[in-house]
Amino acid sequence: MPSDHSGCRQRDMSGQQLQPKSDGLKGEHEIAEDGITIQDLFGAGVSITYNDFNVFPGFIDFSVAAVDLKTHLTKNIVLKTPLVSSPMDTVTESEMAIAMALHGGIGIIHGNFPSFGEQAKEVSKVKRYKQGFISNPHCIRETDTVRDLIAIKAKFGFTGTPVTSTGAVGGKLLGLVTSRDIDFIPETKWASTKIADVMVPRERLIVGDENFTLTHAYDILEAEKKGKLPIVNKSDELVTLIARTDLKKARDFPLSSYDTKGQLMVGAAINTRETAKENVRLLQEAGVDVVIIDSSNGASRYQLELLQWIKATYPQLQVIAGNVVTMKQAKLLIDAGADGLRVGMGSGSICITQEVMAVGRAQGTAVYQVARYARSRGVPCVADGGIRDVGYITKALSLGASTVMMGGLLAGTTEAPGEYFWGPSGVRLKKYRGMGSLDAMEAHSSSQDRYFTSESDAIKVAQGVSATMRDRGSVHKFVPYLYRGVQHGFQDIGVKSIEELQEKVYAGEVRFERRTPSAQQEGGVHSLHSYEKRLF
Ligand code: GDP
Ligand code: 5GP
Repeated sequence: MPSDHSGCRQRDMSGQQLQPKSDGLKGEHEIAEDGITIQDLFGAGVSITYNDFNVFPGFIDFSVAAVDLKTHLTKNIVLKTPLVSSPMDTVTESEMAIAMALHGGIGIIHGNFPSFGEQAKEVSKVKRYKQGFISNPHCIRETDTVRDLIAIKAKFGFTGTPVTSTGAVGGKLLGLVTSRDIDFIPETKWASTKIADVMVPRERLIVGDENFTLTHAYDILEAEKKGKLPIVNKSDELVTLIARTDLKKARDFPLSSYDTKGQLMVGAAINTRETAKENVRLLQEAGVDVVIIDSSNGASRYQLELLQWIKATYPQLQVIAGNVVTMKQAKLLIDAGADGLRVGMGSGSICITQEVMAVGRAQGTAVYQVARYARSRGVPCVADGGIRDVGYITKALSLGASTVMMGGLLAGTTEAPGEYFWGPSGVRLKKYRGMGSLDAMEAHSSSQDRYFTSESDAIKVAQGVSATMRDRGSVHKFVPYLYRGVQHGFQDIGVKSIEELQEKVYAGEVRFERRTPSAQQEGGVHSLHSYEKRLF
């Protein structure tokens, strides 16, 4: 018998007790199945997208912080955050890639540089950035002078410099010299003071051996209050250097995406031309972890041949192929060796492909169909494009994507390439352009390749627009907001991980519902005179 909160029995208007009545579907105290399964949601033969449906809330018996968003970017790469920044020249260069990796995601360096070498340099910058182990530290000789050390400091900004017999890594470690050792030497004596006279000699140095882990190194640096820990081999030759500042950073970013050498992970985009092979070689030398074959329609002979060549030549290098929106396209690329798939055609915010080319697919359906096939082959999918807000990330993951790629959402951040400027209404803006916009195609030829436009084509057909994005602040604030927002979404759905979400979705336990245009309107802010939307 139902009762109200005061514990009184409910009565109807005539003073009689309200009796339970059957809904005509089930027996007493049972409920009819509510909502629909994912199979029903996508079973109507109509393309739908993120905004067309809702996920149903589930039961919460855990905290937001208990939600773990660990995921696979490719067969072999695991990330702690399912977020990827798009290889666009107004979105990802080294600064963005470093920030994304520090927060547990990954950035894919775009391929629109004047030369392959410049792209590889951006990859190197990520690899060298504040990593725990400085694999190639600048060294100095005993016979060099304080002036030489000051020059290193002026040029590179650091002073913790190992002294070796050769003046390079691999030489015998003879000492370490830091700014504290030279602070009080007057400028007039810089040229005449030898490093040997100021350095902390080898006997007084605390060093580590090659088997040291970062955690072990931190414990030592903390206990000994030192700034640098040189690592030597059995012959006492310098192998690498560990900096306390880097370890402190690692503690500030517990989710960071590190490779097995303790360096931040990074990806890069390549095109499908013959010259891509040279591009891959340079990227590989720079230490790239994953390459994305950047093409609007991945089902091409050019891509299949390149993919097979990369997997045969560099079997360890992870390759994400794409883009695809159908199972048939996905099968072609998986059969050719793809370690991951990038899903989306015409869903990007700056994109006009569906208007101009008449091809594409609504992103919700594309992600669901491709991901469910790829799952059966053990290949993770990146849902690329059309992510307008944090809820869209949760929806993409619920449709089977393992990670989500964003262009527009990250384009207005501090870490995106380009300068801010003031728009007419006093808003701070950054430029954001499609890689298939005339603007990007005219800047460099490689973005034409994505859209199969050859340099000799007199008539270009743009597939993207050139736009502006308002200032979104730093990735260091924005990505943690996105991460926490997705954790909240998962908690509401009642799942603690991406794996659990997807298992429950496919089993029909997590349920969905389509929503009409008026329901979509109701789901947004409405019926207000004016409002301010502050998100974090
Ligand atoms: P700090 O005083 O502790 O900041 O130490 P430094 O002035 O020596 O700067 C160290 C920072 O520079 C660390 O983040 C290092 O990862 C970075 N770094 C990059 N390459 C090198 C290198 O060749 N030598 C040293 N000492 N630091 C490097
Ligand atoms: P957004 O996150 O802004 O919605 O979409 C970004 C995605 O749009 C990119 O990752 C890429 O796949 C796609 N894209 C980038 N530039 C263009 C373009 O000029 N035309 C088309 N069709 N898609 C683009």
